[in-house]
Amino acid sequence: KLHNELQELRGNIRVYCRIRPPLLAESQDTSHFHIEKFNESKGFQALTIKRENGRCFSYNFHFDKIFEPHNTNADVFQEICQLVQCSLDGYNVCIFAYGQTGSGKTYTMLNPGDGMIPMTLSHIFQWTEDLMEHGWRYEMDCEYIEIYNETILDLLREFNSNDNIDDILESQKHEIRHDHDNHATSITNVTKMKMTSQEQVDSMLKRASRMRSTACTRSNERSSRSHSVFMVHINGHNDQTGEVSHGKLNLIDLAGSERINSSLVTGDRLRETQNINKSLSCLGDVIYALNSPDAAKRHIPFRNSKLTYLLQYSLIGDSKTLMFVNIPSDQKHTNETLNSLRFASKVN
Ligand code: ADP
Ligand code: MG
Repeated sequence: KLHNELQELRGNIRVYCRIRPPLLAESQDTSHFHIEKFNESKGFQALTIKRENGRCFSYNFHFDKIFEPHNTNADVFQEICQLVQCSLDGYNVCIFAYGQTGSGKTYTMLNPGDGMIPMTLSHIFQWTEDLMEHGWRYEMDCEYIEIYNETILDLLREFNSNDNIDDILESQKHEIRHDHDNHATSITNVTKMKMTSQEQVDSMLKRASRMRSTACTRSNERSSRSHSVFMVHINGHNDQTGEVSHGKLNLIDLAGSERINSSLVTGDRLRETQNINKSLSCLGDVIYALNSPDAAKRHIPFRNSKLTYLLQYSLIGDSKTLMFVNIPSDQKHTNETLNSLRFASKVN
């Protein structure tokens, strides 16, 4: 059904690799990483990783950009700023953070003050104000959800300290609905908040973070095995020209990419483990299929996971997608790091 719509598809994904600095407890030796920015004008950079086990193996990967351990969140935001601004022009923009647990995804996306989400929110009011001079008026509203074990939790719902989180988790029933005519997606019963000011947005993020951490107390794995999806709908109209724009920005902190060994668990835990492994590989399949030269003719498996089903209309057409692949610099993690880099090369 989507095939006609896919015709105007333009492979438009970029992948940025971010290497986190060694933590205090980790080896500070990063000599096994070698970065070559040999064609910087084209934004094409290479990363070589050496692994020694008896013999020395070396692996090469190419990225649109590589952020080194000394690069700050401010450096990273500077590089994504233009992409984020496209959502004001009516584009669908998706930014993902992919990587094993502990690699810096949440630091990149959510670190208070300078993470991509806080930075975007603090700049967006300024940008929309600047555009007022040119006649543009914007309305922005957002939703913030978590997907855990293929179930959606509304992170913006009213939540008091005496509410029982088990009741909330039990009672949540959120369905994803597509309006195929308008390429629009909605989630039933999910809180949609108008964004009005910096203060309001800050307190909203705080509340969501409280909801997340409370839900995590019910399951240790939840924090590393859930996807969080922050969505902003940006609707503009121009008083002077009569133009309108409908953009959407999706900022996604993905579940940890480490493979969970399902041979060690049974029952509910087995199903959960399989779901989590599946949703990330499904995301890879979807992005890969969308970017293949014959994408218009291909079957794109959006329906295979909640995440891809939710983001379907944000990934097709002239949408813009950016994936961070976050990796630690410690040699101890090289195997997982190589897995992440291979995933990233597949989608790039
Ligand atoms: P993930 O979300 O991928 O599991 P985190 O973002 O929680 O990983 O990062 C793990 C730890 O590393 C945290 O203590 C975080 O503060 C720290 N960290 C991650 N990236 C950086 C960075 N670029 N600079 C400094 N500390 C970082
Ligand atoms: Mg995290």
